[in-house]
Amino acid sequence: MSKRVFVIGAGFSSLSAACYLAKSGFSVTVIERHDIPGGRARILKKNGFQFDMGPSWYWMPDVFDSFFQDFGKSTSDSLELLRLDPAYEVFFTKRGHLVIENSLEKILDSFEKYEPGCRLAVERYMKSAKKNYQIAMNQMVYRPNLNPLDLISFETVMNAKHFIQSIKKIVYRTVKTPDLRLVLQFPSLFLGAKPSQTPSFFNFMNHADFELGTWYPKGGMSSVVQAMVRLAKSLGVKFKHNTTVQKIVANNQKAISGIIMNDEFYQADIVVSGADYQHTESLLEKKYRRYSPKYWDKRVFAPSALLFYLGFDKKIKEAKHHSLFFDVGFETHLDSIYGKPKWPSRPLFYANFPSVSDSTVAPKGKESCVLLVPIASGLESNNRQHERIFKQILSRMEKRLNVPLKEHIILKEIYSVDDFKNDYSSTKGNAYGLATTLNQIGFMRPKFRSKKLKNLYFTGQLTIPGPGVPPALISGKIVGKYIANRHL
Ligand SMILES: Cc1cc2nc3c(=O)[nH]c(=O)nc-3n(C[C@H](O)[C@H](O)[C@H](O)COP(=O)(O)OP(=O)(O)OC[C@H]3O[C@@H](n4cnc5c(N)ncnc54)[C@H](O)[C@@H]3O)c2cc1C
Repeated sequence: MSKRVFVIGAGFSSLSAACYLAKSGFSVTVIERHDIPGGRARILKKNGFQFDMGPSWYWMPDVFDSFFQDFGKSTSDSLELLRLDPAYEVFFTKRGHLVIENSLEKILDSFEKYEPGCRLAVERYMKSAKKNYQIAMNQMVYRPNLNPLDLISFETVMNAKHFIQSIKKIVYRTVKTPDLRLVLQFPSLFLGAKPSQTPSFFNFMNHADFELGTWYPKGGMSSVVQAMVRLAKSLGVKFKHNTTVQKIVANNQKAISGIIMNDEFYQADIVVSGADYQHTESLLEKKYRRYSPKYWDKRVFAPSALLFYLGFDKKIKEAKHHSLFFDVGFETHLDSIYGKPKWPSRPLFYANFPSVSDSTVAPKGKESCVLLVPIASGLESNNRQHERIFKQILSRMEKRLNVPLKEHIILKEIYSVDDFKNDYSSTKGNAYGLATTLNQIGFMRPKFRSKKLKNLYFTGQLTIPGPGVPPALISGKIVGKYIANRHL
């Protein structure tokens, strides 16, 4: 008889792990507390508008391709993908503005126009970004990283300086204009740390940005969730929604015997949790937990987020699919996240208008929009601050797009730190897990294998390789393959 695996959560990492485990012959059931799958990538539908509640940037298409190929499928069998052109636009202070187009050549041209003479240095930078991407994909991120040796190879040793210096440092060497410096630092923000704390090796995210491109799956990121759920079901995975795992029960042989949900005990041979790490350990008796509250207090968490899901009663033809509003002090905002945590007085923000490219996510003649303000994990939701920030960023957007917006809002939903805590049992209300700083990479991240219980595993953005949808897919693959090798 097949061994029985319970996977906690139906986020990207859990879905990925469930697929690999089912393919290897385990009997897999996914337990999710919400009524729909996706986790932080759930969908919000209201009055004909549809919003991806979390991720909206489809980057690193090769990782998605590799996932579907592992199951004999192509991405195009599963998703309708569009490469966005332009990829996005960025607004700077003093009315500066740059559109990032859909090829490296065009981007180099626009950089050269913005800062005459920078082209050669940016080309060199992008070559190193590409090389680091190849090293990362081929030799690092798919490894279990249970010990330091997993980070060591000829290439990583030859590239050691890239783990010592920061992205900020090499970006500052490459371009002089403050605006272009922001554009080159932006992708590293996906890793959850500030660029001065992110090793320059992670400039591979610039390769993802400028060369691999910004894509959009029709229907939004939730269509990726749906495709993975279809795949999982075709492999025999069962789903149990609206169900919270209340306890993970261990026996005396340093192993899990089962889980408790709906106040009933269910026997399990293996448990994999894609829920936030500290929450998962809180479901265990204290003696089986590996990491103490002190350990978590000392970690650098990726930011939380203040989100506004908006419906407009008209098309906003001035808006692009993705826009970054870097029109205020970058360092001041980062300091309110990583330095002295507080509500930012003038925040940077990101605006997503998916209905610009996809008519299925808003009613005809209307526009759906998500505004995202990164804020410090550990803050508490605060209506006064939410409204103050909303008013401010909306009027900044009106000015920069040169279009009235306030009076056209017909739907507004707010999501903030406390929602992350309540919905995902997220430590400190983090949105993106644990930041990728020098001492929080590879074997220095929380381990995917329990130290004290031989059949308990972790997956997702709190463990390896790190935050983001592509890393979540990789995380599920690492744990799925590891379990198959060890327990079959
Ligand atoms: C606002 C926002 C924007 C983002 N933007 C991007 C982006 O543009 N591109 C990108 O690549 N990444 C982005 N990310 C990051 C990306 O979404 C996450 O890294 C990824 O989705 C995390 O997946 P996960 O499986 O690790 O965890 P989660 O998605 O958090 O899944 C964990 C699941 O476990 C469930 N759960 C928790 N406890 C229990 C329990 N006791 N019982 C049952 N179920 C439980 C939760 O309900 C949840 O469904 C964004 C994230 C956020 C929040």
